[in-house]
Amino acid sequence: MSDGLFMMDGGAVFGVVPKVLWQREVKADDLNRIPLYLQSLLIRSAGKTILVETGYGSKLTPRQAEMFGLQRERGLVEDLDARGVSPKDVDIVINTHLHADHCGGNTTLAAGQAVPTFPNAEYWIQRGEWQDATHPNERTRATYLADNFQAVEASGQLRLLDGDTKVTPDVKCVLSPGHTRHHQSVVVDSISHAAVFVGDIAQYKVQFERLAWISSFDLEPLVSLETKRGLMDWAIQRNAIVIAVHQPLICRVEKAGPNYRLVSVD
Ligand SMILES: [Zn+2]
Repeated sequence: MSDGLFMMDGGAVFGVVPKVLWQREVKADDLNRIPLYLQSLLIRSAGKTILVETGYGSKLTPRQAEMFGLQRERGLVEDLDARGVSPKDVDIVINTHLHADHCGGNTTLAAGQAVPTFPNAEYWIQRGEWQDATHPNERTRATYLADNFQAVEASGQLRLLDGDTKVTPDVKCVLSPGHTRHHQSVVVDSISHAAVFVGDIAQYKVQFERLAWISSFDLEPLVSLETKRGLMDWAIQRNAIVIAVHQPLICRVEKAGPNYRLVSVD
């Protein structure tokens, strides 16, 4: 599932890594921007339809859309519709965190008011992330936008999680801090298959492979580093598939000397 892509300063995405190194991985445009995809995951498990992440959504003004370099042929709701899923069919929406590029589609404008896009869904968010998002500071307020989540509380559709939480017997929310203090990922772990939808643990493939390549958006970069190490080791041990948000990646993980290697799954 996709809400399109937006353009972000490449230096910000790659943090302290010099451009001479990161530009081997992705070419920047003439404003030094690189694409970040807005991928969501749709899971059907135990009779539930579960949507993880909602992209930027439809509330951006034309000026904001231009500023973010938003590019989409169709938005997430249209993409779901093309696969026969209407907003009312979604039982659970999970946000890995509440940055605007991950939860903007939680709500939609109706008569100028933000209302939940998915009228029958519970929205599952970590309690700590909710607290940080509803009490932003000078560093976080540009991306914690109340319009993306407060209507969900007002409508009684909010479910706050306290740490790792089972969604169905095969699906769980797992804390994966670093990008934000209470960031979570979604793990599918059944007898036959294992997969993880990573949220913003990392944005580009190389940032999983090299633990020290960490975006400057991460609030706790050294925590991110250990989260990535744990994730990569778990993925190797479980032969799990890693699914990313900001790059169209579906990979398995191998050890490669001191680093890791992500290998595309066909
Ligand atoms: Zn993001």
